[in-house]
Amino acid sequence: MLNSIRSKTIILFFLLSFGPLLISRLVIYPKVWEAFQEVRIRDLESVGHKQAELISMWMKERKADTAAIAREYLVRSFLKFVPRDKEFQELTSYLRFIKDRYGYTEISIADSSGRIRVSTREDFVGLGVAEFDYFQEATKGNIFITRVHPSVFPIQNEAGEMEKGVPTLFVSSPIRDDGDKTIGVVSLMVDVTALSEEMRRVKLGRTGETYLVDENGYMITDSHFVSTIREMGLVKKRTSLELKLVDPTTGQLTKGAQACLKGEPGYDAGGYPDYRGVKVLGFWHWIPEYNWGLMSEIDEAEAYRDLYELDRALMSISFAFILIVAASAVFLGRRFTAPILHLTEVTRSMARGDLSTAVGLRSKDEFGELATAFDTMREELRQDKQKLEELSVTDALTGLYNRRYLQTKLVEEVVRTNRFHRPLSMIFMDVDRFKSYNDSYGHQEGDKVLKGLAEVLLRDTRKKIDIAYRYGGEEFVVVLPETNGEQAVVVAERVLKNFRGLDFTPKGIVEPIHLTFSAGVTSLKAGEESASLLERADHAMYQAKSMGRNRVVKA
Ligand code: GH3
Ligand code: MG
Ligand code: MG
Repeated sequence: MLNSIRSKTIILFFLLSFGPLLISRLVIYPKVWEAFQEVRIRDLESVGHKQAELISMWMKERKADTAAIAREYLVRSFLKFVPRDKEFQELTSYLRFIKDRYGYTEISIADSSGRIRVSTREDFVGLGVAEFDYFQEATKGNIFITRVHPSVFPIQNEAGEMEKGVPTLFVSSPIRDDGDKTIGVVSLMVDVTALSEEMRRVKLGRTGETYLVDENGYMITDSHFVSTIREMGLVKKRTSLELKLVDPTTGQLTKGAQACLKGEPGYDAGGYPDYRGVKVLGFWHWIPEYNWGLMSEIDEAEAYRDLYELDRALMSISFAFILIVAASAVFLGRRFTAPILHLTEVTRSMARGDLSTAVGLRSKDEFGELATAFDTMREELRQDKQKLEELSVTDALTGLYNRRYLQTKLVEEVVRTNRFHRPLSMIFMDVDRFKSYNDSYGHQEGDKVLKGLAEVLLRDTRKKIDIAYRYGGEEFVVVLPETNGEQAVVVAERVLKNFRGLDFTPKGIVEPIHLTFSAGVTSLKAGEESASLLERADHAMYQAKSMGRNRVVKA
């Protein structure tokens, strides 16, 4: 099967079409992937950097706000005020105005001993904050931002309820008197929601998000997917400080978070499962200034959607292409082999002896040429074979049919005659005293006699109906279908008369020589066989001999 030209053509076609496809798949495609990944990671990276800038700007603004508040005349005079006096009220209103205007949760002023003297929340007045880092750092003269941590006091959460443990951070600044001596600390409490909102200002597709992570692997800001995460039961209220960035399948920190906590910037374009267990691409870097990491992630499905679509399109095109190639291979294979199969069939029938069927392929290509050459050869063979067949049934000297042919032909004729109950007659002739003629004038002269008789036989019998045979030596047979005995006798007499009229005088002989023959005539009896017919005719011929030759005897 694999040896046929057809299967070879099909295999060749497949190789020719699969080759380039395979090369593009193995060589070009990975390059496209790489380039695409690069672009996606650059996107994540630029988003990450932009976020980092936004955050540091935001933090600077918070510091600037705090420092500006600390420099306010009213603030610097806070020690002089007593609750419920006019200036104290004025200061409280000022702080409240700033808080509402800029969206802080709370603003307080503590004296140098760490006791809150003025606050936007009246219940905070009198509380001690001396042990808190923001207070301590500010008294050292620094403008300080704390880490994000759960609030110690109940504050309003994102749902408007009072709650302890809402993620917050403090920004603090020393308050100095005219002599530049630190007399207190102003602190701004910031709800992390504000930071989260800041983070969401940079968009990255539908599933892209940027968030902050603390050194323990907890998310600081609120996730884009907070409602999903709540539904999954990973957090109760919010992702900020509640959600640890662990891969749900392994229980370990996600690959991105682990790498980020190491402090090195980096990315993963191959994708890893995030805290939802969804495969994402990630870019990360650690911001030591605030002791948190910034992570940008996007779902792999979205990031590579275009590429996946391109891949699918390419695959469909390739598949369609292969189908077309396969169909054409089968079609062409068939076209190539059909003439060959036809030629094979014709050759087989030739081998069986049938030389009459032509290949008859008219195409103008090589197959057409081959078929034409083949048909020429077949025609020559057919003619040669016909000649051979004629030779094998013909007597060389007289051109009449020979005895062998009589034997086959007579059997057929007898069967036919018997079937249709038609008459059939035979004349059996033998030249008289031929031996002595031969002996006297030689064989060549004798041959002329035999030829002469053959000519008379052909002339005096019905063409294509009566058939004359040279039976052997100087013996001849004529088979006359549709002829009864009397009619056959008439024919035999006419032939004898005409033969007798021929002049067989050899050169140099004066006396004219004419020859005669003796003939037996007989007709087929109903149901008789060819051999017995011949025998009776031969017998009648001998009777003619014995009756004095030169005559026709009917049996
Ligand atoms: P009869 O009248 O009894 O038939 O006498 P005949 O001499 O014709 O009979 P016989 O059978 O004795 O002789 C036949 C001769 O025919 C013998 C042979 O020399 C001659 N003969 C047979 N075939 C050929 C042939 O092909 N060419 C020639 N020239 N002579 C032939
Ligand atoms: Mg004889
Ligand atoms: Mg004879």
